[in-house]
Amino acid sequence: LKLPNRTFHGHPRLLTSDVYSQYEPVRRGKQEIPKYFNFASDVLDKWSEIEKAGKRPSNPAFWWINGEGEEVKWSFEELGFLSRKVANVLTKVCGLQKGDRIVVVLPRVPEWWLIAVACMRAGIVLIPGISQLSAKDILYRLQASKATCIITDDTLTPAVDSVASECQFLKTKLIVSKGSREGWLNFTDLYKNQSADHTCVKTRIQDSMIIFFTSGTTGSPKMTEHSQGSLGFRPLLSERYWLDSTPSDVIWSTADTGWIVASLASVFDPWVFGSCIFIHKLPRIESAAILNTLCRFPIDTLVSAPTLFRMLVQNDFSSYKFMNLKHCVSGGEPLNPEVLQQWKSKTGLDIYEVYGQTETGIICSGFKGMKIKPGSMGKAAPLYDVQIIDKNANILPSGQQGEIAVRSKPIKPLGFFSGYVDNPKKTAETERGDFYVTGDRGTVDEDGYFQFIGRDDDIIISSGYRIGPFEVENALIEHPAVAETAVVSSPDPIRGEVVKAFVVLSPTFSSNDLESLTWDLQEHVKKTTAPYKYPRKVEFVQELPKTVTGKIKRNELRKKEWGRM
Ligand code: ATP
Ligand code: MG
Repeated sequence: LKLPNRTFHGHPRLLTSDVYSQYEPVRRGKQEIPKYFNFASDVLDKWSEIEKAGKRPSNPAFWWINGEGEEVKWSFEELGFLSRKVANVLTKVCGLQKGDRIVVVLPRVPEWWLIAVACMRAGIVLIPGISQLSAKDILYRLQASKATCIITDDTLTPAVDSVASECQFLKTKLIVSKGSREGWLNFTDLYKNQSADHTCVKTRIQDSMIIFFTSGTTGSPKMTEHSQGSLGFRPLLSERYWLDSTPSDVIWSTADTGWIVASLASVFDPWVFGSCIFIHKLPRIESAAILNTLCRFPIDTLVSAPTLFRMLVQNDFSSYKFMNLKHCVSGGEPLNPEVLQQWKSKTGLDIYEVYGQTETGIICSGFKGMKIKPGSMGKAAPLYDVQIIDKNANILPSGQQGEIAVRSKPIKPLGFFSGYVDNPKKTAETERGDFYVTGDRGTVDEDGYFQFIGRDDDIIISSGYRIGPFEVENALIEHPAVAETAVVSSPDPIRGEVVKAFVVLSPTFSSNDLESLTWDLQEHVKKTTAPYKYPRKVEFVQELPKTVTGKIKRNELRKKEWGRM
């Protein structure tokens, strides 16, 4: 078979021949999506062969550092070898079978990646958890998921033990640690002594693979199930995909292992294209650690959340010279145009925004080389027909505000969640006509660029005006005194509700007179956006409430405001 010598944005995809090209007929609609798919055998093991044949650049498949001199580098072959051992621990030692569920709550340690791949090999359903969970959070997750096994590290074992008696499904506890603990199996010892002989199970493309808990920005986190094909096969169908990486690229995402972003940016999307996944343990997210890492390691692509970029641009960059950084991506929350501009002036680089949900993966994004419109989250991602719709599921014309939705009928696109586990009612609530509704409001312009206005609940209605918090926040953050801000509605006897801004000051402004600063900020907003949007109330705070994934919890601030009445 002679493959067409096609290039996409200048990247020779031919390098990915075996993995990517075999699905060319599927991409062209000439062949159906395969019935069986397993990311470990169909992607990772193929890369291992390509690597063995000397057809892949010599960079590792996985590269981990802890910032204190420890380093781990694995080729695809080593990743295969070690993850097969882990698969044997899970199946032979723990007795787990295809379809069983396992909760894995670990910081960014190499073992997490071995476990993730081992679960694919054995068909075990992985439930990643954010590493800062409390005992109550763990109890909720173990009970809701009915998981029979948990893997965690020293920091969380006491919390797990304190609730284990209430988790009737839990049978096995594994600890990733140098030490031992009663009632726990030592993961590290076990897997090193296992055989590396393991045959990957056959999984249907729609079999369950992974369950994420949503960030819980608006309430209890929801159990969101994805299939074997949803995250792993979707990138194979896309000619232009958000990371758009090649086998020689090194991709670094700072996301916590429990968040879907880590799975997308630090597992599936780089490995589909044979790229190197770079991980820093980052026990604490600090500017210096991040900037130094970008200077010392050949990272091509950085993926992070807006909160991190907001933190980084507060620094003086004159003593930092990035080694290789070319592509920056921000997602999970709106990125302020001011931060985009500051990043550009400090690094010469743009930030490409992605927009998505745990339920859908990436819905909109910028692509390498695409024109960036500040304040926009880019265009519809491949395979997704994204529209702005009204209450009756009518598609709205460009420029009109409505709900961001993705066409999900007659065929649910690959990449979508299978549903909220044990909650068909909640799943059904996301459907409207032929669409899946995101619960976010936005607009689309004539060029197909989407703009985020706010979560449905975050919209402020004051004297009949609908005000999105994000536009007010964007105006505020342009002021040099503002390091970070969250805008919510606050009760008002005359207007019903008014705009209130919570402001974290930049260090250099912390001793200013707050009354005159308030006036200053209000005047600034009146000048930068429509005057009716200015915050009638301003409160200065040390920090903003955030989810463990770093998202601002506007609903918490709002509840406090309304509770004050
Ligand atoms: P929960 O559903 O439990 O309340 P959550 O919605 O924050 O939590 P996620 O699935 O992690 O959980 O986040 C998806 C949401 O994050 C989107 O619906 C949107 O509100 C927001 N979001 C993601 N990316 C962007 C972006 N680029 N711009 C603006 N908002 C974004
Ligand atoms: Mg959500």
